[in-house]
Amino acid sequence: MIDLHCHILPGIDDGAQTVEEAVAMAESAAAQGIEHLLCTPHHNNGKYDNPAENVILQVHQLQNLLDMRQIPITLYEGQEVRISGDLPEQIKAGKILFVDLNNKYLLIEFPANEIPVYAERLFLDLIAMGHRPIIVHPERNQRFIEDPNRLIPFIELGTLTQMTAPSYIGIFGREVENTAKQMVENNLVHMMASDAHNVRRRNFFMKRAFEEIANDFGKRKVTAMEFCARDVLNGDEVDILSFKEIRRKKFRLF
Ligand code: FE
Repeated sequence: MIDLHCHILPGIDDGAQTVEEAVAMAESAAAQGIEHLLCTPHHNNGKYDNPAENVILQVHQLQNLLDMRQIPITLYEGQEVRISGDLPEQIKAGKILFVDLNNKYLLIEFPANEIPVYAERLFLDLIAMGHRPIIVHPERNQRFIEDPNRLIPFIELGTLTQMTAPSYIGIFGREVENTAKQMVENNLVHMMASDAHNVRRRNFFMKRAFEEIANDFGKRKVTAMEFCARDVLNGDEVDILSFKEIRRKKFRLF
């Protein structure tokens, strides 16, 4: 499996705090069949800044350690970038790491309770620069929970979306779980990643979530998500299932 979102690099954000915790995470990932892991520390989120050069060094060090301990995982350098209006400037200044080496796909996080008004405009600019934004965990954003169809204008622009595995199996509660299921059912999310932070509550859960998706909606959804993650990591064009708008009751009785 390929996991395109995790906080395994030790001591630089709210993920693994020590080298030993990072190794324990890698062991846990390997045990559930993850072979490729994109390291995506928080960047520019008001609390953590992890510009490209720091991340590259850290990934190199952790990879050496995993190789020494014979843990069969290949690490890649990335970032989970908090949305901000100066993103194009940060990209030009070389501070931003993309998922792939062609600098095509990048992981963008919205604040938990809002869809910034400038987001669509910013995404258009990024797309004009040859990039393709990926909105991470929309199923955990309050505005997308209220109306998952608000993803549609972004998807129509060419944006991709990434659900996190623990959402699907209920780690963040019933509301997030239901939203995740609705988004998967209607192809409003294109790939799944762990967003793992530790080996406790915020573990990887990829294998279990894929099994549940296959149970709920059939293996085809899982295969599409796995191919999407692979193509994104390779910087290739993706082949996505077309979305369906979620129909809701027209009238709500109080
Ligand atoms: Fe994250």
